[in-house]
Parts: sequence; C-alpha cells; structure tokens
Amino acid sequence: MYDVVIIGGGIAGSITGRFIKGNVLIVEEHKSIGTPLQCAGIISVRAAKELDFPKGLVNKVRGAYIYSKNSMLEIESKEIKAHVYERKVMDKDIAIKTAKKCDYLLKAYATVEREKNNYIVKVKHFDEEYTFKPKVVVGADGVKSTIGKKANLIKNKDREILSSCQFEFVNVSVDDDFVYIFFDKKYTENFFIWIIPMGKDRVRVGLLSKGNAHNNLINFIENHPVAKDILKKATPIEFSSGALPIGYINRSVRDNLLLVGDAACHVKPLSGGGIYYSTLAGKIAGNIITDYLNGEENLKNYDREWKRVFGDDIKKGLWLRKIIYRLDNKTLDKIFNKLKDSEIIDYINKYGDIEEQAKITSHVFDYLKNKFGFNLLKFLFFK
Ligand SMILES: Cc1cc2nc3c(=O)[nH]c(=O)nc-3n(C[C@H](O)[C@H](O)[C@H](O)COP(=O)(O)OP(=O)(O)OC[C@H]3O[C@@H](n4cnc5c(N)ncnc54)[C@H](O)[C@@H]3O)c2cc1C
Repeated sequence: MYDVVIIGGGIAGSITGRFIKGNVLIVEEHKSIGTPLQCAGIISVRAAKELDFPKGLVNKVRGAYIYSKNSMLEIESKEIKAHVYERKVMDKDIAIKTAKKCDYLLKAYATVEREKNNYIVKVKHFDEEYTFKPKVVVGADGVKSTIGKKANLIKNKDREILSSCQFEFVNVSVDDDFVYIFFDKKYTENFFIWIIPMGKDRVRVGLLSKGNAHNNLINFIENHPVAKDILKKATPIEFSSGALPIGYINRSVRDNLLLVGDAACHVKPLSGGGIYYSTLAGKIAGNIITDYLNGEENLKNYDREWKRVFGDDIKKGLWLRKIIYRLDNKTLDKIFNKLKDSEIIDYINKYGDIEEQAKITSHVFDYLKNKFGFNLLKFLFFK
C-alpha cells in the first residue's frame, strides 16, 4: 500500500517524504516530532530559505566572538548571518507541512529485514506489529542508524561519534547579535564549546566531546571567565544530551534502501551542523525516489548526486578538522594573535558564511601559508 517507508521523522525524513510523489509512510519511534532535543538550533539564512523559513525562529545573529584560551577574534557583519531556532517548533512545523501528503506513524519502532533482493520493514506500535513491503525504504534514523548498520552501509572506521551535552539558561546577560565559540582543550579536545543567544536573556550552552561531555560542560560553565560572566544570574530550564556523527560514508544505497541525514553522516565536520545537508540530501533523495517509482531512475544515483552537491565539502572539512584539532592551546593562541586585525578578518567579515566553513577555513590556512611559507608547519606543529 505504501510505495515508500521512511524510518525517522526528523528533518531528513520529513524533507525526503515531502519531495516524493507517491504514497509515503514516515515511522517515528517517539510520541512527538522534534523531541527529545539534540541541537543548538543555529543555521545560515541560506539553510532557513532552503527550509522555506519554518516556524520557531527565536533570534538572528550577525557575527561571532571566537575565543582561544587567551585570545579572541571578533567576526562581524552588517547583515544577518544566521538564524537561531527552537528546534522542537521547527521540526514540528516541517512535519505539519509534510503531513499534507505523507502519513506519520508515531510511537512506532521500525527495523528492516532482507527478503529476496529487497528490504522490508517491520514496525512495532504499542502491542501491534506490522510488516510493510514498500518499493523503497529510507533510513532517516539519525546518528544511531540501526537501519544503516543492518544494511551494512555504516562502518565504524568511516565515522567518529561525538557525545553532546547542552543546557538552556534564562536570566542571562548576553550580546544577542553574536554567537560565542570557544576553542579550549581544557574543556573539549575534539570540538568547540558554544554559547548561542536565543534572545537577550536566554542562551544555549553546549559542547561536543569524545570524553565525558557532561563533566566537561559543567567545568566550562563553572570556570570559564566569559561563561561565568554571562551566566552569573542564570537559571537552567532545559538539559539535553545526544550524539553526532562526523565522517564520510562512501555508499548510502543498497538495493531498495537508502540513507539520509545523520544516518549517512551528512554533517559538517568543522561545525557539526547537519540541518542544511539533511535538507539538501532529503530533496535529492525525494526527487530520485520519485523518478525511480516512475521507472526513470536508478536509486544508486542518489549517492552520485549528494556527493556532487556537498560530498567534497565534507571531505575537505574532515581534512581541515584533522589539522585544527591537533593544535594545542598555545598554538591556537599564536594563530589567533596573528589573525587579529589582519586583512583575513575583513575577508571573513565580508564573505563569511556558516555553510562555507571549509572554504573559509582553507582561506585562513592559505593566508597563514603565505605569511609563513614553509615555516607554517614549524609554526603549527613544533614548539
Ligand atoms: C548537540 C548538538 C547540537 C547541534 N546543533 C546543530 C546546529 O546548531 N545546527 C545544525 O545545523 N545542526 C546541528 N546539529 C546536528 C543536527 O541536529 C542533525 O544533523 C539533524 O538533526 C539531523 O537530522 P536527521 O533527521 O538526520 O536526524 P534526527 O533529527 O536525529 O532524526 C532521526 C529520527 O529518527 C527516529 N528514529 C531513530 N531510529 C528509529 C527507528 N528504528 N524507528 C523509528 N524511528 C526512529 C528518531 O527518534 C529521530 O526522531 C546538532 C547536533 C547535536 C548533537
């Protein structure tokens, strides 16, 4: 009865469903779309447009204060650079629009099994069990992606998983035009810490880490001077934890099954942003599945298409990530001091775009290379 069953009702699943012309069922294990929260909710204006400016916008920012341990870069634009969303509202609004043409089954846990040369879907919904034999199965089931693992599309060597922890605080005092980013090995080795204003008196403070994300975040909140200042009268109103995949999977299609969003590592390696790529991948998947249902397309071309659109950016981001997270606090301070008041900051102010992090970071490295020549390696890696 259903042409397509999508497993996962997050952004990737809902956008994919919306772009399919056919009968679609979206199966979601939770009782409500958009919960539990696992996101800082910041996206570029370009990404917001790609999502047709969904409901849930709480703030707009036009710059960033980026801290190393002892230095700070101020990136500022006259224009709005990013939108901050209440993800629960955003995801639900996206689902409401998708529900005009797709069915949702909530509180329903799906697994896949192989039958002949195809995958079929088994769904447990309260005491009932259903079996679906759709023409296409989509694994939009996020970072865990039991579907991707079952189809042998996800291998541990292709991705690293960072755990996350985040608080929302009210009664804070913050410059709500700017996000605050901190690179400090004391709190997280493999990522950065963020303070994202959701308005003048509300922020999200979070981090991603390979270690104990909760302890590291508490340490940051209690000890970092900037955090202490912003949060001195703050009251926490929400706590969330989760995980994010960073990596590149070469193959995301097997037989009649394909993966989108976090399930397929459609995440920016430098910032952890996944909403934009999930949206692009969802649209690509939706269109290819439509053509496939009409007998005009091979599902395998989905891999070719998402790689063409943003695959190289992920690869470049992974490469830059390897360099950035090898740098210790002292070297980061040195780099920040070199970049401060340099022409590269004017370039970032003018052209900076959170969807183009790999490109912008490459420019920064090119700038450093021009300044230091062969001494750059010495500067970065030898004391
Ligand atoms: C702490 C943190 C902060 C982040 N901040 C940002 C940010 O500021 N900006 C940004 O762009 N990105 C951010 N991201 C990344 C972003 O949240 C994800 O990339 C994005 O939500 C991916 O969407 P998705 O639909 O692929 O996965 P998800 O949103 O995880 O959706 C997957 C859905 O599948 C369901 N599901 C899983 N298994 C099954 C099953 N077997 N049966 C039925 N349902 C199932 C889950 O319940 C879930 O609803 C952040 C991530 C983290 C962890």
